[in-house]
Amino acid sequence: MSKILAALMPTPLAAIEVREFPEPELEPNSALMEIDLSEVCGTDVHLHRGRLAGVPYPLIPGHVSVGRLSKIRGRLLDIEGKPFFEGDRVTFLDVHKTCNACWHCLVAKATTRCPHRKVYGITYGLQDGISGGWAQKLYLKPETRCLRLDGVEAERFMAGGCSLPTALHATSRAGVSLGDTVLVLGSGPVALSTIILARMLGAFRVLCIGAPEHRLKAAAEVGASATLNIETHTEEERGQWVLEQTNGRGADVTIEATGAPVAVVQAMRFTRDAGRVCIVGQYTDHGEVAFNPHLDLNQKHLDVRGCWGSDFSHFYLGVQLMADPLRSQPWSHLKLERYGLNQANAALRDVASGKAIKALIDPQL
Ligand SMILES: [Zn+2]
Ligand SMILES: [Zn+2]
Repeated sequence: MSKILAALMPTPLAAIEVREFPEPELEPNSALMEIDLSEVCGTDVHLHRGRLAGVPYPLIPGHVSVGRLSKIRGRLLDIEGKPFFEGDRVTFLDVHKTCNACWHCLVAKATTRCPHRKVYGITYGLQDGISGGWAQKLYLKPETRCLRLDGVEAERFMAGGCSLPTALHATSRAGVSLGDTVLVLGSGPVALSTIILARMLGAFRVLCIGAPEHRLKAAAEVGASATLNIETHTEEERGQWVLEQTNGRGADVTIEATGAPVAVVQAMRFTRDAGRVCIVGQYTDHGEVAFNPHLDLNQKHLDVRGCWGSDFSHFYLGVQLMADPLRSQPWSHLKLERYGLNQANAALRDVASGKAIKALIDPQL
């Protein structure tokens, strides 16, 4: 029986180790996927720091991946009911087991809050099989939703990676529309995809506050009209800058994609009266922050919304977008750094420090 190499995160803060695993027995209607590329994102850094709840260590990280179906047992159907065949190029929705039967799914219609959902590479650990993309092959459990990548370049798709469905969800929650001036706080992958999508949705101007400088340059390349470095400007200077850019009113829409609690308050303060704020960066618990409910929220007549995870519709739309060479062109500006399985520790370091704009694991390296 052939072996599979995979990068294992044994416990939080421990070094990632490359280990060999036996090829799994396939259950009916499951498959084995040969990984071409998987990603390293901020979530993996949080995983490594032990900052996410409900993670069954040890685990193989890597939630969004692209590759080829190398072995199928039984039947695997796409969303149109067409069967997948061995050799098909695919990606898959990393969220599994959304039940479509609970109160969250059926009454609140908030499937990303379904308590039954599991995520490959995050809440599936080694005990659940080879269920992360930092591996030569990954085990696709029955009822995993695969999507064809016909006409989609692996690199182009992964330049968006998990940030794309997240940003699709956030821009939709924020209600970005024609003519808006959108302020994006942050300049990581989610922020960059948000800038591209805000332009696509009709924003006339997109402002970005982030760091370091090379990420702000990327922000400008993908469509930000003006950028400001957070490291060299105080909060007051940043607020002043936003007012100067918006005729003294503040942004119509602000999308927070930083992870810093204080940015949530700034998002409210930098938005105009009766504007909209969407919070997507607070994926882990970094503690509390104070704000003035009268001045920052009520008197401003603001709409403030959270945005948790993404669902199949965002993933589906993301694949369609990336199949369009023209519409997906802005993502080609993002520099990709490739790391082999045995370079996963360096990849995590480079993502944590902001050195890499987009880091990918290539198990062939
Ligand atoms: Zn449910
Ligand atoms: Zn991710």
